[in-house]
Amino acid sequence: MDATMQRKLIAGVANAVIDRADELTTLDQAIGDGDHGLNMRRGAIAILERLDDLAAMPLPDALKAAGQTLVMKVGGASGPLYGTLFMTLGKSLSLAPKQDDMARALGTAIEAVKKIGRSDVGQKTMLDVLGPVHEELALGGPGLLDRVQQRAAAAAAATVPMKATKGRASFLGDRSIGHMDPGARSSSLMIAAVCTVMEE
Ligand code: ADP
Ligand code: MG
Repeated sequence: MDATMQRKLIAGVANAVIDRADELTTLDQAIGDGDHGLNMRRGAIAILERLDDLAAMPLPDALKAAGQTLVMKVGGASGPLYGTLFMTLGKSLSLAPKQDDMARALGTAIEAVKKIGRSDVGQKTMLDVLGPVHEELALGGPGLLDRVQQRAAAAAAATVPMKATKGRASFLGDRSIGHMDPGARSSSLMIAAVCTVMEE
């Protein structure tokens, strides 16, 4: 990936989060403490502040550095979790990854998130988007970027009827049902942004 493409990718993801920060906050007000939009926005701004630096690095290093920035800036439960996701992606990706390399690296990164979150798919978290996206990516084949993006959106919507059993939303028990998980939504936004830039 050249520096221009990498720059577009990083900026695309960061701006998608900034543009939808209010929506993320509203979702977190319903089943959390209302800070997810602010947390993610703070992280995205910190990423944009070092965009030149990140764009110039080899992709694996840029992902590791972005992950470290997220750990430091985002805070909350999502900061260390997204930080781990990106840092592990960076550690697992080769310099010029193909679809199957990306799928493998995402699988490894998701396992790392599960480990530090002591969580799994099915608990109404970001993992309920990341898991299905990994499955779709691993399938490969025609129209993959479109399919991944649609799968992410559908998976985020599918968290609405779920009952949260991890994170702050789990304190609500049955009252967490009927709302989209904020972290599932932020994951789907970032994945959509990656797919949109890659399709250009
Ligand atoms: P906090 O819950 O500390 O206020 P945020 O509001 O920034 O942090 O992030 C909340 C999101 O983090 C949730 O919507 C959920 O998707 C995700 N999350 C929380 N705990 C976990 C966990 N243990 N494993 C995976 N994801 C989690
Ligand atoms: Mg919160």
